[in-house]
Amino acid sequence: MNTIDVLSKISGQSKETVKSIWEEVKENHKKLDACPGPHKFTIPFRSSGELIRDWSCELCGGHISSSDKSWYEKGLNHGSSTLQKE
Ligand SMILES: [Zn+2]
Repeated sequence: MNTIDVLSKISGQSKETVKSIWEEVKENHKKLDACPGPHKFTIPFRSSGELIRDWSCELCGGHISSSDKSWYEKGLNHGSSTLQKE
């Protein structure tokens, strides 16, 4: 049983749906990896009502969750303040 079969069984989604999601995830990571950076996650990508769940980078078009965006931006701030102290 391969990964697609396992994910299909666990999620209850068809193998075709799992494959399609997996391909989208790989494409998204390619965009994020190729970004000249730092990412600018300013474009709402996916929402649940008023809540924005995912953000897209205006430079590369890759997207991440709101939680990942928050940690990424915190890392940028901490990294830059560390550099200023040196
Ligand atoms: Zn980017």
